[in-house]
Amino acid sequence: MTRIGVVGAAGRMGRNLMQAALDAPQAELTAAVDRPGSSLIGSDAGELLGQGRLGIAIGDDLAAVRDDFDVLIDFTLPDATADNLAACAAAGRPVVIGTTGHSEAQKAAIREQAASLPIVFAPNYSAGVTLMFRLIETAAQALGEDYDPEVIEAHHRHKVDAPSGTAVRLGEVLAQATGRDLEQDAVYGRQGHTGERDPRAIGFETIRAGDIVGEHTVMLAGSGERIEIGHKASSRMTFANGAVRAALWLADQKPGLYDMEDVLGLRAATS
Ligand code: NAD
Repeated sequence: MTRIGVVGAAGRMGRNLMQAALDAPQAELTAAVDRPGSSLIGSDAGELLGQGRLGIAIGDDLAAVRDDFDVLIDFTLPDATADNLAACAAAGRPVVIGTTGHSEAQKAAIREQAASLPIVFAPNYSAGVTLMFRLIETAAQALGEDYDPEVIEAHHRHKVDAPSGTAVRLGEVLAQATGRDLEQDAVYGRQGHTGERDPRAIGFETIRAGDIVGEHTVMLAGSGERIEIGHKASSRMTFANGAVRAALWLADQKPGLYDMEDVLGLRAATS
């Protein structure tokens, strides 16, 4: 059994992650943490899930419970990740990071920490989106420069970062597959007299509305035809089950930075 700790436990994903850890036969939920000041500190994790008392109180100090879990799953805010990693590094506890919206400097700090700690860092823990990255790579390479890439994503009204981490990763895959530079060639939304489309552009359109769990479409549009590859998540449990699967896999890994392609064995199978 792998003992799982969840930080961000009171959040939308945190509750689904705790449920997924309870459901997985190889996993055991043993710690739950949220931010100091949350009204849910002290609540019982099981009662929060409507399952009756589990005897796991939601705490507000990760360092205080780091001996209680084998792997931490972090779905919080970008500013919280560094402290959570530091608390886990001190006890050698691997970390699955689901939080999105990190700055380049924050991503560099995660890469640095991975030299001494096993970390899975993925913008999307669903198997479908992980496969979509591969499909996009193949399509963009095969179609080449004459097909314009656009990334369209939609999420619920509470999401605080845009474009989504998954959309950014799709942009990175498109840039790499077609010889573009995402930093220079990304175009985020369009308005007013924009002029004709820059042939090097990778366009991003963002929708924030209602309770949409997460939808991504990549369009590759040429003259006379276009291909669209899309994914729609209808339940957060798909991300939560994927993150718990990543945690079980990570428990046996050496220090390093991994993503969901490593967890699903896609990289080993094709490289
Ligand atoms: P949410 O706001 O519902 O939950 C975040 C939780 O983190 C809250 O309970 C908040 O109190 C807690 N938190 C904030 N700062 C903290 C800190 N310093 N220490 C401990 N807890 C802290 O948000 P959500 O919808 O659950 O999403 C969380 C993150 O997960 C976002 O970045 C989102 O984009 C990302 N996400 C990733 C995937 C994926 O597959 N990688 C899927 C869905 C969401």
